[in-house]
Amino acid sequence: MIEILNLHKSFGELQVLKGIDLEMEHGKVLVIIGPSGSGKTTLLRCFNLLEVPDKGSLSLSDIKINFTDNKKIPQKSILALRQKTGMVFQSYNLFPHMTALGNVMEGQVTVQKRSKDEARERALQLLTKVGLADKADAYPHQLSGGQQQRVAIARAMAVDPEVLLFDEPTSALDPELVGEVLKVIKQLAAEGMTMVIVTHEMKFAADVADRIILMDGGHILEQGTPQEVLEHPQHPRALQFLNRIS
Ligand code: ATP
Repeated sequence: MIEILNLHKSFGELQVLKGIDLEMEHGKVLVIIGPSGSGKTTLLRCFNLLEVPDKGSLSLSDIKINFTDNKKIPQKSILALRQKTGMVFQSYNLFPHMTALGNVMEGQVTVQKRSKDEARERALQLLTKVGLADKADAYPHQLSGGQQQRVAIARAMAVDPEVLLFDEPTSALDPELVGEVLKVIKQLAAEGMTMVIVTHEMKFAADVADRIILMDGGHILEQGTPQEVLEHPQHPRALQFLNRIS
């Protein structure tokens, strides 16, 4: 179970998150949508403390962190939370000097202290899962954007996180490569992986989400099932956003 209460985050004078409350169960998929600048990525990055909130609290399984202005978060809590989350970025962020296999092994060896043999075996399993067993020895520059993103998903999975976080995983891809990445994410959803996904792909959101939140100006404007949020939004601004993108 993940619970976020009254989360606030500012960058200087700019208030980006203005009191976010949300809950999600393990094995579910939460999709975050909303206009540009509404705070989606910032909220996602708070899940693994790539951004540290100013106020509020965050719980993930047995970890609970309270945020208060200027109070330093214990390094132990940060590491514990990071070990339970895997992040997939918009621009893949693979290590360019490592092969696909090396990228998927890296965190297992350095963070989880697995042996190289064990890490290699798990990496190969995961590359097979994302359909890239034959590309294990390829370097990122030898792979298409879609293939690189699938390696990035395998890498995020390799440390056995409780939650996978995706920040607009298809927005850097050529349109013809979007489908192969979405297919992998859908497959993970069907297997019961807990995921939080920021996306602009509304059809994908409708297909994969158990719950959707629609953000606007640092607030959650709507939250509910895809049907509730996408087809029966309550708030005029939500309707305006959905009409604009459809
Ligand atoms: P998009 O759909 O365009 O990616 P978003 O909803 O994900 O937008 P965020 O990336 O969370 O929005 O950004 C929300 C606001 O916070 C924006 O005005 C952005 O410029 C600002 N912001 C984000 N990160 C930082 C930062 N590190 N420093 C200063 N301002 C930031």
